[in-house]
Amino acid sequence: MILQETYTLNNGVKVPKLGLGTWQIPDGEEAYYSVLWALQNGYRHIDTAMAYGNEASVGRAIKDSGIAREEIFVTTKLPAEHKGYKITHQCFEKSLEALGLDYIDLYLIHAPWPWSNIGKDCTQENIESWKAMEEIYDTGKVKAIGVSNFEPKHIKPLLAEAKYVPMMNQIRFHIGEKQEETINYCKPLDIRITAYSPLATGRILGNKAIASMAEKYKVTPAQICIRYCLQKDTVVIPKSTKKERIISNSQVDFVISEEDMKVLDQM
Ligand code: NDP
Repeated sequence: MILQETYTLNNGVKVPKLGLGTWQIPDGEEAYYSVLWALQNGYRHIDTAMAYGNEASVGRAIKDSGIAREEIFVTTKLPAEHKGYKITHQCFEKSLEALGLDYIDLYLIHAPWPWSNIGKDCTQENIESWKAMEEIYDTGKVKAIGVSNFEPKHIKPLLAEAKYVPMMNQIRFHIGEKQEETINYCKPLDIRITAYSPLATGRILGNKAIASMAEKYKVTPAQICIRYCLQKDTVVIPKSTKKERIISNSQVDFVISEEDMKVLDQM
């Protein structure tokens, strides 16, 4: 069953292949119940971020689920706007506090540049943030560290100064968004890819070719999109606030044939 399957990161830590995304889920009841329903239905991996503003509800749901902490993999992120050594330490502590946890499983630099200035060269600031993250990692308060939205040109200068190779790069990846350059760069370094927006934030679910493929396999278009990412060896973190969708998005224990994967690759 996919919910029980894991990948092993380059430091030996295991990450569940499927998780629940929580971007754009408002703090409060909605975030709380989305996470609680996911955990009650077998999910063991939750993706949040300080920037999503919902860490408190995510943490409350984790606690109320009654599931042992060590069975749940929690990812959160250093806001793209906050870069540098000191602020990274401060943000990490704030996330820990908001989540109400003693440790975090995966901490990521949310993006190589602030969202308000995409493309800005923040090489030095990212190196400083990475140094702080390595220090946190050495304390054991985080089990793995990584980056998000990083292209090879952002990772290379980090590696030149780093003690640890990032364990994860969380990037936009879905049918029609192949990210070949970044994936080909990360693979030999054993930097695992997480596919974010696996449903293209809902935008590809109405695609006719995906719908007809879904019909062929007697599954939903969302299940085709999620399964596609899994067969590309990525971690996948679909978001939903609807209980039935949270459940059905995890029912992806079918196999898309190699031939059909090639068809999807062409989209
Ligand atoms: P997804 O690609 O997961 O799509 C979510 C959308 O699809 C929502 O509108 C949801 O609506 C809808 N949906 C989900 N399941 C179904 C279904 N079975 N049938 C029909 N509609 C469905 O979107 P996200 O962009 O949120 O990406 C997933 C996660 O990736 C984020 O939540 C976040 O955790 C992470 N992420 C990380 C980023 C980064 O910079 N690191 C950037 C973007 C995302 P509803 O909720 O109503 O079901």
